[in-house]
Amino acid sequence: MTDLKSMTPQELSAWCKDQGQPAFRGKQLFQWFHRGAASLEEMTDLPKAFRAQIAASGGISAPVVERKQVSKQDGTIKYLWRLSDGNCIETVLMGYHHGNSVCISSQVGCAMGCSFCASTVGGRVRNLTAGELLDQVVFTQKDSGQPISNIVLMGIGEPLDNYDNVRRFLTLVNHPEGINIGMRHISLSTCGLIPGIQRLAQEGLQLTLSVSLHAPDDETRSALMPVNRVYPVAALLEACQAYFAQTGRRISYEYALIDGVNDTPRHAKLLGERLAGSGAHVNLIPLNDVAESPLKPSRRVAAFQKQLLEGGLNATVRRRLGSDIDASCGQLRRKAMQI
Ligand code: SAH
Repeated sequence: MTDLKSMTPQELSAWCKDQGQPAFRGKQLFQWFHRGAASLEEMTDLPKAFRAQIAASGGISAPVVERKQVSKQDGTIKYLWRLSDGNCIETVLMGYHHGNSVCISSQVGCAMGCSFCASTVGGRVRNLTAGELLDQVVFTQKDSGQPISNIVLMGIGEPLDNYDNVRRFLTLVNHPEGINIGMRHISLSTCGLIPGIQRLAQEGLQLTLSVSLHAPDDETRSALMPVNRVYPVAALLEACQAYFAQTGRRISYEYALIDGVNDTPRHAKLLGERLAGSGAHVNLIPLNDVAESPLKPSRRVAAFQKQLLEGGLNATVRRRLGSDIDASCGQLRRKAMQI
């Protein structure tokens, strides 16, 4: 099947020409994808014969709402989308005073194995295509009727473990002919894959890079995150400094506070020392409940934040949205469905 949804307008135009169609049909297709057309029948400005040609080359797929949950606490919406191969992934829509943010998944499952995260239970099944990344934005906006202004790549999966498709998605979603969301309105979170961070630095994009740090020392971090055994803290922070130097964009560090594990005054002191002068922002996340994990949320969130602030760091506590529907950080899961 030709993956039309993952193509840029230029690539679509070339494909249309190959099919014996005028090049402008490429732009039309691109616009239909970004408006959330779920079927070829909806694309009424395309000749019927051409639509039949597209169908013959595999047609276009669209995600289907398998389940939709709305938080009673704060209106956060969680979608479970069924993809064309029967795999299911989750997407979350959150309302902020500055606009609506969509949190999208980058893979079906995750290979990173962090001990506190539900998304990695069962490992990684496959990467999402650029078109499937885009569909999460477009169809969430369409189904909810709420205009989306911000995107966070913080759902299921490790975005830098699916680099090429994520990079392509950024081009599509930022394209002026399409949904056109500005790079400054996009955040990408990584568990710390240094080669990916270095590659991204070279692209010089204006997006926000978030790094899931969760501990300032190798002993604590390796116990929580297997990735740290390959890319330890000092090397990771060095790559982050280089990223800042190359792009001029400050890094945001995520730090999930876990009772008795990474929330002691000693951890706060070391974190403050390691990030001093980096201009970084620390986003503290009170640990969310994950059934498979025995880890408990910290009871020292305010004290930990105070210590960081006193040490001159910029530290905030992330709002906990959608916890009544398991839509908070680390609670998203893939599902397998029969189709
Ligand atoms: N794989 C990427 C993208 C996931 S973003 C990454 O690791 O950054 C999801 C964020 O929620 C990450 O910072 C992750 O470490 C954090 N997280 C995972 N499980 C959590 C939990 N139980 N409570 C709070 N935060 C959690």
